[in-house]
Amino acid sequence: MLQEKISAAVTRFAPSPSGRLHIGHAYSALFAADACGPDGRFLLRIEDIDRGRCRPEFEDGILDDLSWLGLEWETPVWRQSDHMSGYAGALDRLNRDGLLFPCFCTRKDLQQDAANAIAAPHGPDGPRYPGTCRNLSPSETDDRKATGEPYALRLNIEEAVARIGPLRFRDLGLGDVPVAPDSCGDVVLARKDVATSYHLAVTLDDAAQGVSLVTRGEDLLHATHVHRILQALLELPVPHYHHHKLLRDPTGRRYAKRDRAETIQALREAGRTPEEVRAMAGMG
Ligand code: GLU
Repeated sequence: MLQEKISAAVTRFAPSPSGRLHIGHAYSALFAADACGPDGRFLLRIEDIDRGRCRPEFEDGILDDLSWLGLEWETPVWRQSDHMSGYAGALDRLNRDGLLFPCFCTRKDLQQDAANAIAAPHGPDGPRYPGTCRNLSPSETDDRKATGEPYALRLNIEEAVARIGPLRFRDLGLGDVPVAPDSCGDVVLARKDVATSYHLAVTLDDAAQGVSLVTRGEDLLHATHVHRILQALLELPVPHYHHHKLLRDPTGRRYAKRDRAETIQALREAGRTPEEVRAMAGMG
């Protein structure tokens, strides 16, 4: 398998403070810090747009665990909740360009649509959005907005692709990857409860922080297709990518935030040393 190296890259680790870090996160953080090379820069970003799930004590705990592991990052730490106006500016631009539409569907509506369809096409985030609100008339949209009905903003992917044509991105493990716009459909760029989304915030932040090599788990490979499309629409620089394998427990299961026993905190409390935890993550 191809494994390119880039010297002096700018990389980042971008945890969400919705729980403590587990051993899989430790691997991901150590992977990113290693990937920037001795002359590169390693940044940290706190992905805290989901105010309902994120907690300051988790953020403090994450920073503490990362220092304990021996990681050093540049300050100041980038916190997404400090950058909401930048996300709003990008949404305005995409909206002016006619690339967004309001979507009033509830989670229940979308589940019902998927259940009713004979073979609902699935994307990586579950059933693909069936396009319910894509062609609502402006008067219906205005009426529903006027009643205070909550709505998300979705990207009209067909329109986006028609404007930008075929795209590719470079993955250090996979080589040149052609973008497959169909895999994700009309993704949400602003949630009903948060005025941005993972996809929009990450794409803008990687550009704003000057990240030149995005490293993250292979479970997020699908997201890179969306991010590459957003980069083209918003004329942002295009970093290189490296989607790493996911660490699995001895039974082959991916580590998850619910596995309390495998948090760095629990391992610390059980008396493990940073060297031992780095070795457990395969980065000793
Ligand atoms: N915040 C994301 C996570 O915790 C990672 C974001 C990314 O690397 O794009 O899974």
